[in-house]
Amino acid sequence: KNFAVTEGGGEATVSFDDVGGQATAIKELREALDFIKNYNRARHLGIRPLKGILLTGPPGTGKTLLAKAAAGYTDAVFVAASGSEFVEMYAGVGAQRVRRLFQTAREKAQQSGKKNAIIFIDEIDVLGSRRGKVTSHLEYDQTLNQLLVEMDGIKADDTVHILVIAATNRADLLDPALLRPGRFDRQVRVELPDREGRLEILRLHTRNKPLAADVDLAVVAKETFGFSGAHLESLANEAAILAMREGLREIHHRHFVEAVEKVLLGDKLDRRPTR
Ligand code: ATP
Repeated sequence: KNFAVTEGGGEATVSFDDVGGQATAIKELREALDFIKNYNRARHLGIRPLKGILLTGPPGTGKTLLAKAAAGYTDAVFVAASGSEFVEMYAGVGAQRVRRLFQTAREKAQQSGKKNAIIFIDEIDVLGSRRGKVTSHLEYDQTLNQLLVEMDGIKADDTVHILVIAATNRADLLDPALLRPGRFDRQVRVELPDREGRLEILRLHTRNKPLAADVDLAVVAKETFGFSGAHLESLANEAAILAMREGLREIHHRHFVEAVEKVLLGDKLDRRPTR
């Protein structure tokens, strides 16, 4: 099983400018990441290394995007995995995968001559739910234990500094052991965007799209209460598709209006089961 690896500084670099409507989350994340950027100063002051950041909030709000931007910001290699990838029927497989994930991150950083590696674990709740609960399976416990072992093993003088960024929509399910100092001791809330935030995201996702003069994105932002960044990205794409179907070379306001309905409908039709 190979983990998705991308390098900060490569062509797919994501920056915080690509993330809309998340000013507070970006500010908090930057403050934490500055410890890594000014690593020698932090170490000189005896500040213990930052090992884990937990991003919490609803689906599609940009948690993965923020983690990638964090890798760009700290010039780190980016290795991604999802909590569900660690869940296996056979004891020990999940734990072994966790070990491999950390190994991969170290190797990739060394290969590309980088000092930092960011490991992103999406849906951390799948493997990091409270241990010892009736519903909790033995295998999950071993996997979670291995993650804790790996994080506890991160040292200030490691040649490659590893930062684990994890994401969840269900922070309430997490084992408290994950949240202890030296583990995921920083939490950053990633909320649904407000009207201004939605406008920012709409601007980002229409950057490379030809808009007719009648398009008023502020009105679209106003009419999309409750939409996530992922919804808005899909909205912009749907609007462009509608324009193309009509054989037009520009997207008009009515296409956005129609696309709002489509996105709402699509969301109802293929809504993923909520855990
Ligand atoms: P999940 O919890 O479902 O994994 P997530 O919070 O990690 O979701 P992303 O995967 O980052 O969300 O978002 C999916 C896509 O939606 C992004 O690739 C991007 O195109 C768009 N998107 C989401 N949030 C934002 C945002 N704040 N700014 C710009 N685009 C966004």
